[in-house]
Amino acid sequence: MPIDVSTIMLMFPVVSLSMAAAMLVVSWGRWRDDGLAQWGAGVMMIAVAFPLFIVNTLASSGLPALMVAGNTLLAASYSASLVAICRFFGRPCSPWKTLLPVAAAAVGSVVYIDRPEPRVALGGILFAIQGFLVAREVLRRDNGVLERGRLLLAIGAGMVSLLYLQRTLGIVGGWNEVAQLKTAHFIQVGSHAMGLAGLVLSTMGFILMGRERADAEHQQQALLDPLTGVPNRRALMAELERTLAQAVRERRPVALLMMDIDRFKRVNDTYGHVAGDAVLAAVAQCLKGGLRGQDFIGRYGGEEFLALLPGTDAAGAGVVAEHLRARVERLTMPWEPEDIRVTVSIGAHTRVPDEGTGAQAMVDVADQAMYAAKRAGRNRVERLDAALSECAGATAAS
Ligand code: GH3
Ligand code: MG
Ligand code: MG
Repeated sequence: MPIDVSTIMLMFPVVSLSMAAAMLVVSWGRWRDDGLAQWGAGVMMIAVAFPLFIVNTLASSGLPALMVAGNTLLAASYSASLVAICRFFGRPCSPWKTLLPVAAAAVGSVVYIDRPEPRVALGGILFAIQGFLVAREVLRRDNGVLERGRLLLAIGAGMVSLLYLQRTLGIVGGWNEVAQLKTAHFIQVGSHAMGLAGLVLSTMGFILMGRERADAEHQQQALLDPLTGVPNRRALMAELERTLAQAVRERRPVALLMMDIDRFKRVNDTYGHVAGDAVLAAVAQCLKGGLRGQDFIGRYGGEEFLALLPGTDAAGAGVVAEHLRARVERLTMPWEPEDIRVTVSIGAHTRVPDEGTGAQAMVDVADQAMYAAKRAGRNRVERLDAALSECAGATAAS
């Protein structure tokens, strides 16, 4: 099947215009500084550059000025992609990496305006470097976990880079057919097809990066309590399930601390709900700051917090609980007309779990211990450990 090079080149404006329009429609009125506009602008430049190459190809004697404009636009489009990635990850982009290739493409195209071989060779090496810079920027380790969108973008940019590299190598190796853009040689057709695939893959990769990040943010938000900034009950229970499963495997104890602010209703009644909210946030951070690295704390309910202490025996849990109780007792919340101080009552429950140990059942025992602390006068720690809690259950059942 004969394939016309101009026809395959025509696919570039068709595909890139469609993609740029789709990006524009989706982001219209919802501008965020996430690089989408820069990426869309880069794709749009490709949509403009290729018709220039096509017209040059179709003109009998060629129109070199169009090649200069096309090459400059192409270099600018890769620079726009680089800027888009920097924006996405919220870091500055070196002007050397963005402006220099554009200037080099413009000057090089003018210098070699009548000599296609060195012009294509120079463009090839420039675009290959730009594709490599794009792939390198997106694969940087400090960008975080390597998600699929990033990988896709890097593969697309890598394909474009290879395509241009083979052009330059072809010319340097004396295979000048590579520079004859009009020839329907399989190298020309194949490399254009590869360039087009690279453009689509990298653009899809960039869009997917945004989606993956939004998904991760939503997931994170769904597990965090917005008022206090600590994990919510859902996250707590999921973590407790994980902690218990690991403790069963390792035959190690798990301790739970249920902590409830004393007479919190009075704080709201005396200072107002806004003050109550501020106290909740301060207590949450105070408790979190008093725990060890392996511990986990979250907001279990209104003014109740639950801490999970993996690998901690009953005596250890008692020490940590007393440490937390004392921290909150020392905490002062600056407020007008007077500073606010609160205390917490803590119920501790420790056990070495087995397959039958339910997460909720353990929390309920810690809750019972906390109510025992309330009954015993508040601002204190009560422990209800495995053997005792079984007795308590038996008593309740009898
Ligand atoms: P106790 O010492 O027995 O625990 O007394 P308490 O007043 O702390 O207990 P109670 O359960 O009667 O009151 C809890 C209060 O916590 C009632 C509720 O309005 C308040 N509360 C729950 N969630 C929030 C919140 O998000 N913000 C504020 N400001 N108050 C809250
Ligand atoms: Mg309370
Ligand atoms: Mg309560």
